[in-house]
Amino acid sequence: MSKQASAQLTAQCVECDASIQVLPDDRLLFCPSCDTFSQLGSDGQILPLKKVRLQPGKLDNNEVENMARKWMAEGFWKAADLAEVAKITKVEAIAVPFWAFEITSRTYWSGMNKRSRSVGSGDQRRSQTYWEPVSDDFSEEHRWTIYARKDPSEIMGLEALQKGGGAIRADWGSYLLGFQSGAKSGQPRDLLLDSEPFRYDSLPDIQVVPGQVDRSEAEQQAKQALEGLCRDKANNLADRVIDCDTALDAKNVQLVYLPLWQMEYSYRGRLYHALIDGGDGHIISANHPVGKWDKVVLTSMVVGIVGAGGALAAWLAQMPSLWIIPYACIGLMALHASWTALFAKG
Ligand SMILES: [Zn+2]
Repeated sequence: MSKQASAQLTAQCVECDASIQVLPDDRLLFCPSCDTFSQLGSDGQILPLKKVRLQPGKLDNNEVENMARKWMAEGFWKAADLAEVAKITKVEAIAVPFWAFEITSRTYWSGMNKRSRSVGSGDQRRSQTYWEPVSDDFSEEHRWTIYARKDPSEIMGLEALQKGGGAIRADWGSYLLGFQSGAKSGQPRDLLLDSEPFRYDSLPDIQVVPGQVDRSEAEQQAKQALEGLCRDKANNLADRVIDCDTALDAKNVQLVYLPLWQMEYSYRGRLYHALIDGGDGHIISANHPVGKWDKVVLTSMVVGIVGAGGALAAWLAQMPSLWIIPYACIGLMALHASWTALFAKG
């Protein structure tokens, strides 16, 4: 977490009267003295928050570093000596809050379908289109997660978790600006699954991040998202949907903490980041330097295509002057490869 300069206030724990440091945006407070949570209302009233849950964190500092080095050593487009040379400069455990919902939705919709029929007979026979009214309803079960802080970007890489995928960004340096590789997508994570009651002593040396989104605000956000989802689904059920109404029933709402490791490492003078799952050690999101020979391979591929195109054009168009293109391409590849062998690091 980045340090915030905002003024700190103090609140009194509802269970044990200990003072809790509070930042202006904090709504969900944790008291490390008695292991309990409370919710701070906008009117300043503090109410206990029961049944907070935790995704189990099974790793310690060393295991996280080992998982990270293993990740550095495998996969594509990484600098060959990354695992060996990288210096891990920071490893920090945090527990971040999410609201997890189990919600049933029932959507009633009505609309029109475009139909065609034949009218007339003999030579007068033609096709006519008309609109046929249609209506129906559907029910769905949703598992929905709302991040309980306002700005996901304050924790580098957390957006990847929200979208349910992983994001690995390769750092091509100045070689290819804005090029991204290896972005995976997957199922959104179900935070209610496998969670256990929150226990601070099961999380040594971890910073419990206070939540900024209270329960009713989270419910509002989930409601909006799910209504949109149901409307999109209804819109696909008829040619024209006119009315759509969704009723939601939240069966289970829980604050679930997820343990994460924030890692910072340096490689040849540059800093990189990784966000690691505290449960199984998988890399949720990270960036890494690209190997020098990977760049040569990529140049060769691009230049090879251009060169082959040039050769084909020279041959088809019977224009010997075009042979300059493939020769120039071969020259370029040789130049990049020898420059890499002599000067490039990584
Ligand atoms: Zn307390």
